[in-house]
Amino acid sequence: MSHRQAQTTPNASPGGRPEKSGLLFILSAPSGAGKSTLCSAVRNRFPDVMYSISFTTRAPREGECNGRHYFFIEKGEFEAGIEQGRWAEWARVHGNYYGTSMDTLNKGLRMGRDILLDIDVEGMRQIQEKFPDGITIFIMPPSLDILRRRLISRGTESPEAIAVRLKNAQKEMAQKDLYRHVIINDTLPEAIDELINLIETYRR
Ligand code: 5GP
Repeated sequence: MSHRQAQTTPNASPGGRPEKSGLLFILSAPSGAGKSTLCSAVRNRFPDVMYSISFTTRAPREGECNGRHYFFIEKGEFEAGIEQGRWAEWARVHGNYYGTSMDTLNKGLRMGRDILLDIDVEGMRQIQEKFPDGITIFIMPPSLDILRRRLISRGTESPEAIAVRLKNAQKEMAQKDLYRHVIINDTLPEAIDELINLIETYRR
């Protein structure tokens, strides 16, 4: 079975032969489930995979750079983007907007680039409608209690924000069966291996 994207319009090459479209990997995980570390591992292992940098209205955390971790934009610009159909998907997560640029996705896929998206469950549902062959992967934390401890030790969120994230995590974890693959992040090195092997299998 071919896992290549079939839903994007094939791009004719100068010789008239349709070029292969890229693969779309959609990764979701509750906040604190280790997704950033897993994404970094994928980016290091497959530097040619394009990482889709999301747009958000959330304030940058310490150490986050505009254009590298996110494009940090104002609420007004985001909402105008909704009106203009600028987002392939968008969602309000923990009180902030997050979205993926449609233009960037289409251009990347047409160029035959494989793309990694790090988005929430709501965003995944929207992407699946537009790109049904997208490969969806959910990262499960071993337990809610471990997730709570991870969020507290990360120290980047207030107790209120942690409570919101935990509630959201519970909701997201209940929807894990919507994903084609589920990886339990019990021990990080094993979860990294599992994710890399999975991506490698599709790309082979
Ligand atoms: P954080 O604020 O911790 O960076 O991300 C919070 C949540 O927003 C995570 O679950 C993350 O996957 C999700 N997220 C990040 N970028 C996007 C995006 O472009 N679209 C959607 N729908 N969710 C996103």
